[in-house]
Amino acid sequence: MHAAVVEQFGKPLVLREWDIPIPGPGQILVKTEACGVCHTDLHAARGDWPVKPTLPFIPGHEGIGLVAALGAGVTQVKEGDRVGVPWLYSACGHCEYCLSAWETVCPKAEFGGYTQNGGFAEYILADPNYVAHIPGGLTAQEVAPIICAGVTTYKGIKVTEARPGEWIAISGVGGLGHLAIQYAKAMGLRVCAVDIDPTKLAHATRLGADVTVNASLGDPAEAVHKATSGGAHGVLITAPSLGAFKQGVAMTRRRGTCVLVGLPPGDFPIPLFDVVAACITVRGSFVGTRHDMAEALAFAAEGKVRADIEVLPLQSVNDVFVRLHHGDVASRVVLELFGK
Ligand code: NAD
Ligand code: ZN
Ligand code: ZN
Repeated sequence: MHAAVVEQFGKPLVLREWDIPIPGPGQILVKTEACGVCHTDLHAARGDWPVKPTLPFIPGHEGIGLVAALGAGVTQVKEGDRVGVPWLYSACGHCEYCLSAWETVCPKAEFGGYTQNGGFAEYILADPNYVAHIPGGLTAQEVAPIICAGVTTYKGIKVTEARPGEWIAISGVGGLGHLAIQYAKAMGLRVCAVDIDPTKLAHATRLGADVTVNASLGDPAEAVHKATSGGAHGVLITAPSLGAFKQGVAMTRRRGTCVLVGLPPGDFPIPLFDVVAACITVRGSFVGTRHDMAEALAFAAEGKVRADIEVLPLQSVNDVFVRLHHGDVASRVVLELFGK
């Protein structure tokens, strides 16, 4: 099969042939139709994070396709079902986190396109217990971004605990952020969108943001405090830039929650006195559970959230990575694996 493979960190992906995997007991084979390109794929291909994937590997965790073959004992899906193979590729199912429906933090979790091969290939091996079930009425291309960018921001908004009528500041209006704005509006929140690119901010307004702030002009935290009369009740930082994190904490209202989602390599300083004295919560959020996934997909199926996509062939993957690095992707690129 054709695949885009990371052979060395920091080098272009190699477009090459790769053996079609054979599903073992309890596994399924998915024939890929489309796969979104997440900024995480760029981090993975660069080896940005402390735990690195084993080379060579196939990235991609927004892969959508049709079940093509079942391993022994699989009953949860049938051939021809449309499924998504997400970042949460599998988990153990019986640790304290799995038992409390927090399978996203299972210590034995596997990650699609990272510890397991992903969707930048014609076929993907998957665990049928963890695939996303794609509702009818959505194309593979338009639904692909929902299974990472969508579920991640939907969950991230939930854990800000901001309530309808309250303010959320969304820092970064790229693949994740453009969906976050739509989820937040559908959830009844008032949205302040923050980015460094005026074209992304103009798009944020079109998507329903009530206020926009250009973080490259002046102090964005001051601008958010002014626009929201005292800071955002919830802050969701999707920007892959460390500078956005310190700013995001400073945008948070007293007793508010700042949720960290972007994953640029490195650390950022937290102003201890401000966080303590204002009783601010700073918390991480990692994709979403299977239940979050079903809910995030339902918003899309009902037309409340729609990914803006640019569809390109798999062969464009290296160009797309360069554009992502430079912030030159409008919202999300989705790679097509075979004709429409
Ligand atoms: P993207 O490249 O599509 O979008 C990033 C956006 O951030 C762009 O619009 C860019 O202009 C903007 N930006 C850059 N610097 C900024 C700054 N200083 N302030 C405000 N905005 C700024 O990326 P994406 O696919 O949306 O992914 C974003 C990040 O989220 C990545 O680091 C990715 O790894 C991470 N991520 C995390 C999870 C999770 O579960 N926590 C899931 C998916 C992606
Ligand atoms: Zn992702
Ligand atoms: Zn577990």
